[in-house]
Parts: sequence; structure tokens; C-alpha cells
Amino acid sequence: MGDFLTRRGTMNALRARPILPRSIPMPLPRARVCLTFDFDAISPWLVASKGGAVAPGVVSRGEYSARVGARRVLALLEKHGIQATWFIPGHTIDTFPERCAEVVAAGHEVAHHGYCHESPDRLSDAAEREVLELGIDRIKRLTGAAPVGYRAPGGASSQRTMPLLVEYGFRYDSSLAASDYLPYWPRVGDDADPRSGYRFGQEVDVVEIPTQWNMEDWTYYEYAPGFSNGGRAPSHVYRAWTGEFDFMYERIPGGVCVLTLHPESVGRGPRLLVLEQFIQHVRRHPDVEFRLMRDVADEFRAEQAAVGGAR
Ligand SMILES: [Zn+2]
Repeated sequence: MGDFLTRRGTMNALRARPILPRSIPMPLPRARVCLTFDFDAISPWLVASKGGAVAPGVVSRGEYSARVGARRVLALLEKHGIQATWFIPGHTIDTFPERCAEVVAAGHEVAHHGYCHESPDRLSDAAEREVLELGIDRIKRLTGAAPVGYRAPGGASSQRTMPLLVEYGFRYDSSLAASDYLPYWPRVGDDADPRSGYRFGQEVDVVEIPTQWNMEDWTYYEYAPGFSNGGRAPSHVYRAWTGEFDFMYERIPGGVCVLTLHPESVGRGPRLLVLEQFIQHVRRHPDVEFRLMRDVADEFRAEQAAVGGAR
């Protein structure tokens, strides 16, 4: 693993080949859509308390996620025959095992999202490895297999995160944003010296399926002191999401539209209806398919292999 941290790419090497794929060969559909659900529940509130007492009010916000939000989301996905990717912290699996078992029984993918929603960039080397292993263990117990996908809680990857994902055999990550609608190969070993240009490291064999804050629910809807103001109307969010999809559909053939959702946020009344309207909007377009993130990662690998860009 140490090699990944010390190898350096050169500007010439980066100029010699594009970081992002230039073309996606058909027969991929014109557009793919991934609905992803970060089933955080109580974990972010608990980790924010740094192990201290957690106020019943915020615990209840997390509890709502499993008691109400996740049930509504599962019913909506079943109604529309869509399988989705659920990023579930180990703490949610330990706290709400029955709800998590329902996610698995419905055929959805379960991917890694920390143990207690710890931001990797605030952890020590040993602690980041420990929570990665804890999360893998809980998902193995839940699904019978190790996860192949990872999303950093809060999008706060550390310099160690990508080398760890390589070491533990993850197939894809969904935490970064160097692209919007097209997957790419992420790197390890970047060198950030404020007295010279940024030096990019080596691409690795993990597919990055990028995310963006404007394709979330939480940042639009939720008020959390010191984090987000929320307060947007569901109709505003509908325009934001469909605007992103429409641009991609028209301009980026073969693109992947990733929505990052939270059962406690999107599961509330009119917000759930807006998610349903988004699904209906997508389905009015020809040649669009909903996908699991792991399948998008496999398709990217196949596409890259066909053009000689495999890692
Ligand atoms: Zn989260």
C-alpha cells in the first residue's frame, strides 16, 4: 500500500491520455439513472456528539428514517420496479436490523458508508482502517458478502481513503466530483505543494461514480444547525433534478445521473411525491434505464477495456 502513497504521476503522463472517457460505445442506453439512498439514521447525530449524550430530539430525527422514511422509500421503489443502491453505515445495520434486512430482501445493493458516519478526514490512520473494517463486517453479516462500493460520509474522504479502498478490494467509490455525468478513474498519491502546481498522482483500479451536492435531497430540504439551512419547496427540487437529467439526456449520451437521497429527508410526504414525479419524468424519455451503482462500475470497466483504458 505504501507504494500508492509515494508514486507520483507527471504532467506529461497526464497529457498523454485523458483522465475522463471521451466516448461511451453503445449498446449502453442513452441515459442511466442511479437512485442512491444514504441510510444514515441515528449515526450522524451520534458521531457529532463525539460519544457524549445525544439529545432525544435529534435521535428522533434519525429514528424517523427507519420507522417511516425507509418504509415509504422501499414501497415506492417496489411500486416502480426499481432497484437502488443503499449506502448503509454499520451503526444503522446494528440499530435497525429488520429494516436493513428488508432492503436486502427487495434486491437492492448495500454499499459502505462508514460505521457511525465518521468523516474520514477527521480520523487517525488506525481509526479510519478500523471503521472501514467494522462497516465491511456489518454488511457481510447483513448480505453475506463484502460490499464493492463506498461513499465517504459527508463526502469527506481523506488522503488514506482511496489507498484503503484499493487494499480492501472495493470496485467503486462515489465520494468525489471531478466529473458530473461520466465515471472516471480516481487517483492516489497527489502532491499538493502551495509553492508549485498541483501534481496529480496515479490512477487506480477503482471506478469513481461522481456525486454532486445539487443532486441531493438533504441540502435542499433539511435544517441542521451549522450544516444546512434547507427550506426549499419540493417543486424547486423537482426543477433542479429534472434540469440536470434533461441536460445530461440531451448533451451527454451514455451519461449516468446519480441522485443522493436520505430516507429521513426524501421520505416525507410531498418530497416523496417529487421523487416519484422525477421517476415518471425519466421514464417518459426513450432509452433510459435505472441501474445499481455496481453495474455502472462494471459497465465503465468494460467500456474502458474496449478502448484500452483499463486499470
Ligand atoms: Zn451519509
